[in-house]
This record gives sequence, structure tokens and C-alpha cells, in this order.
Amino acid sequence: MTVERVSAEGASIPTGTEDLEASEVLRVAVGALGADRLAIASSFGPEDIVLIDLLAGIVPKPRVFTLDTGRLPQETYDLMDGVRRRFGIEIEVFFPDAARVETMVRTKGLNLFYASVENRRECCHVRKVEPLGRALATLDGWVTGLRREQSPTRAAVPKLEEDPARPGVWKVAPLADWSGDAVWSWIRERDLPYNALHDRGYPSIGCAPCTRAVEPGEDERAGRWWWESEGDRECGIHFDPRSGRMVRTRVPAAVAGPFDERSSDGAA
Ligand code: SF4
Repeated sequence: MTVERVSAEGASIPTGTEDLEASEVLRVAVGALGADRLAIASSFGPEDIVLIDLLAGIVPKPRVFTLDTGRLPQETYDLMDGVRRRFGIEIEVFFPDAARVETMVRTKGLNLFYASVENRRECCHVRKVEPLGRALATLDGWVTGLRREQSPTRAAVPKLEEDPARPGVWKVAPLADWSGDAVWSWIRERDLPYNALHDRGYPSIGCAPCTRAVEPGEDERAGRWWWESEGDRECGIHFDPRSGRMVRTRVPAAVAGPFDERSSDGAA
């Protein structure tokens, strides 16, 4: 493995990590950044549960943060408490800025996301992207459960990179080359907790009003923002590295804030 300096202010990013196992990738990140400056960004999908299990085998108290949009299913909250109990960890919960949510729903309605893609992106920005920025301000690296086979927008996700939207911050995807079957095998073999909605036809779970069950044979993310026909139907906290461009969408001026012009899948 070699190390290269990727930015003046950034950490040194190792190269040659693509052939490493998931735990080895995590060890590289922990070793370089320290356990206090690296955290799993968890929406408590099955990949996140595997990551928490793996990192808990490396450090006694892995940092885990989540974005509580205020619109999550009860089953997700139940799982959060299950994870706290199972691993004996604290979960760092980041909420949206209350004033921005109040302004948004007062002017556009509680269910604004159904009205237009622009509205949906605004809601995701206020409830997810901006809080993510605050979470990442406490970190030098974040670990995600992205897998290449999840969707076309994720097919080129590297296991370790400098976050293109956040210079100097490592973005780590140890499960990038895992299959869905491998994730679920790990969960079953380890008897790990998972979201009860998965047993009701929900392979990918986000906010309650924006997630539905999928039919057999449908893409696993087909139940996310299913009413939209344009864009990549992602929430904006990741970008599409295969597009060859940084997918950044300027959010509407009404919601502009300190973390604006973050990556947005929706513009891909
Ligand atoms: Fe809003 Fe839906 Fe995005 Fe959640 S997934 S932040 S409810 S638009």
C-alpha cells in the first residue's frame, strides 16, 4: 500500500485498498485518523449494521451518527435502540435546523416532496444534507454502507477516497464490493438486529413518506421516491463518482446555508 497526499489540508489517503477486506479497510482508516475522528454514518440499513459490527470488533466504542429527519418510520427508531443495546454504544443523532424546517413547511406544506423534484431535494437538503455537514464537521472520516450493486449511481464507489465534496475528509466504503446476499448472511450468522420493515418488502428504507415496499424483481431502491421519473433518486448526501463529474446541485436560495453546494445525486 502506498500513501499519497491528496490535498494541502487533507489527510494522506492510502492507495491500493481496493483489494483489502472490509475489516482491513476499517483498520486502515482507524489507524490513520483515530477512532475519535472516524464515524459510521448510519441510516440503520443492513449494511450499516454490518459496519457497526465490524468496527466494534476493532475499537471498543465505535462512533456512530445518524440523521433524524423527523420523518423516519417507528421501526427505524426501534432499531436504533436495539443497536444501542446490542453494542453498548451511544448514537449521535443530528436533527435538522428547526427554523429551516418551520420555514419550509410553512411555505410549501408538510408533504412538499410529492409536489416536485425541486421540493423533494429541498426537503432532503434541509433534513439530511445540512445536518450531515454539521456531523462531518466533527470528523476527519466517515464510513458509509454504499455498495456498488445497489444502483447504477453507485457502481463505481471506491472503498476509500477523499470525499470530493469535502476536501481533507475521508469517505470510506468497506462494503463497496459486497453483495446483498453477503450482507444478509453476515447479519443472520451474527444474529444482528435489523429493521422490521425488511421483512415486509422494504429492501431500502428512508423516511416514511418517501419509502414503499417493492415488488419481486424490482431494483432494491425502487421503493425510494418512487413517484419521481427524473434524476437518480438519491438524497444528496452521496454523489455519483462514475458520472465523471461532481454532482453538485445548488439548493434553492430559500434554504441556502453554510453547507450549501454539497453533492447531490439528483443532478446526475
Ligand atoms: Fe424529506 Fe422525503 Fe427527503 Fe426525508 S426522504 S428528507 S421526508 S424528501
